[in-house]
Amino acid sequence: MGQSRRDPGRGRIPRVTDAERRSALEAIATEVRDCTRCRLHQTRTKAVPGEGDPSTEVVFIGEGPGQNEDLEGRPFVGRAGGLLVNLLGHIGWTRDDVFITNIVKCRPPGNRDPEPDEVAACAPYLHRQLEVLDPAVIVTLGRHSMGRFMPGARISQAHGTTGPVDPSTGAHDATIFAMYHPAAALRTPSIERESYEDVARIPTVLLGSRERRREARLARREAALAASAATAATSPIGPVIVDPDADPTDQLTIF
Ligand code: URA
Ligand code: SF4
Repeated sequence: MGQSRRDPGRGRIPRVTDAERRSALEAIATEVRDCTRCRLHQTRTKAVPGEGDPSTEVVFIGEGPGQNEDLEGRPFVGRAGGLLVNLLGHIGWTRDDVFITNIVKCRPPGNRDPEPDEVAACAPYLHRQLEVLDPAVIVTLGRHSMGRFMPGARISQAHGTTGPVDPSTGAHDATIFAMYHPAAALRTPSIERESYEDVARIPTVLLGSRERRREARLARREAALAASAATAATSPIGPVIVDPDADPTDQLTIF
């Protein structure tokens, strides 16, 4: 317990404050609750935009709401959600430490797979959520969610592994970590065991991604300093620091 999923370094010279992230996510959620962009709105009880800490570094993405989620308007509140909470507890985290959402925000009737046109219609919401959250790590739960971030991968091979996230997803510098869907783990004891092994790797994956992001920030800052030094050599007003997100006191915080 007491482990932070928030990087204190990135909050100090904030380009986006916690309050701005919170209200941007709430604006997206309000649109989702009224959305009629695909046929799933006709059969839903409540849309399920997603929820969690607006300043978290870790986002979990499932497939779509099930029956309990549809009734409550909240993600992962049924049996699969119970297992997800237990998996998070295995590493000392709670669901409030992370952000949890889905590929489609409304329940496919009878829990069928979402159709490609429904996934496409809903994609802009996840894209905007990822832009706002700017996570260091995206944990995909199940095949459908993994397919968005690791096209062509097979879950039996890819679970427990990482990869770079394409910035076109909205997450500008994230690492993906693939896991089995908790519902699959509920059906198959060996998958449940593997899921506990996989989740235990997330803190290390987070540290690695944080370090990579920190190095990228420092590299941007060096480039900005070099650029301002070059400008200073020719400018009558002297050096100008041009990188707004560089933090000279930034340090990797070991949680
Ligand atoms: N399964 C999912 O993929 N998402 C939920 O929110 C609940 C169950
Ligand atoms: Fe809108 Fe997504 Fe719900 Fe379809 S699934 S109605 S696109 S929020």
